Amino acid sequence: MKKSFLLLLLSTFSFLQSQETPNIIIMIGDGMGLTQITAGMYSNNNTIALEDFEFIGLSKTHALGQLVTDSAASGTAMACGIKTYNGVIGIDKNNAHQPSILELSQKKGYSTGLVVTSSVVHATPASFYAKVPSRKLYEDIALQLSQHSLDLIIGGGLDFFNKREDKRDLIKEMNQYEFVTDLKELQNTTSDKIGFLTYKKEPPKKLEGRSPALDELVATSLEKLDARKKPFFLLVEGSQIDWGGHANEMDYMVSEFKEFDKTIEKVLDFAKKDGNTLVIVTADHETGGLTLKGGNLEKATVKGDFSTEGHSAAMVPVFSYGPFSKLFAGIYENTAIFEKMKQALNAEQ
Ligand code: MG
Ligand code: ZN
Repeated sequence: MKKSFLLLLLSTFSFLQSQETPNIIIMIGDGMGLTQITAGMYSNNNTIALEDFEFIGLSKTHALGQLVTDSAASGTAMACGIKTYNGVIGIDKNNAHQPSILELSQKKGYSTGLVVTSSVVHATPASFYAKVPSRKLYEDIALQLSQHSLDLIIGGGLDFFNKREDKRDLIKEMNQYEFVTDLKELQNTTSDKIGFLTYKKEPPKKLEGRSPALDELVATSLEKLDARKKPFFLLVEGSQIDWGGHANEMDYMVSEFKEFDKTIEKVLDFAKKDGNTLVIVTADHETGGLTLKGGNLEKATVKGDFSTEGHSAAMVPVFSYGPFSKLFAGIYENTAIFEKMKQALNAEQ
């Protein structure tokens, strides 16, 4: 009698525990400030998936000693909770390597994955797993990724793995992984560790036919991660919203935003059904200093001017949904995004 009561107590406790530790999905629109979102919204007949989020905050994006950040410093701020110098990934001002939220979630027994529309070694995704003094050390970053035991790796940059100066073939070395080569293979694989290096170098623009679409890749990734019956941490990046901003090309920027928004919609659908998934959508910084000056509501067009080919210092919005989402309301440093995700990871509200 006593024993069965204890068992019941234990099983209830572990049930509650598993209920309390949510999946965490962070979605970063690189260079996606408020005007990029606004342009994308009016270009999409005045509607976006972001309107369904529960809480909205604002994040201060400055780097260590610099008002205008790059994607390495801001990625590191969100991934590792520290301000660092532009160009640096995962290392603080005292040269100490800082653990990322992805690494902390791995320690906690989470499955982990990343799906991006740049190469997988680009600054934003790299901030979640690499420690390098320069974001340009792509081959070093690839080596670190190959040894990081992520469960799912999707994005461009195959050449950094198997056409290297040191002649190593990391694809061969990553023998616990199955590398798939198209969406069908991704959907059909039952492997524990999955890689899909979509392009040899940086993937092309959406406007130039990049495929598979980010929303399809992410929907399939969610199925894979959800099937594992343990919580997961997933990074999704709309990497090229930023590149459209650097090019000062509204069409480029908006087309990348639209694909990202479609992906947000699928992620939100998943979170709503799942009931224990925290979704955070934010940006690392604004790109292009975009001002919207006109357009046509009926034709769903917008006109704007860019004031720089670089980034700007404007605060960026943070949208959140699900358990712990209310933590993300308010105005805070981008480093607080790490702290808030960490709270969710430790299930302390
Ligand atoms: Mg990026
Ligand atoms: Zn940029």
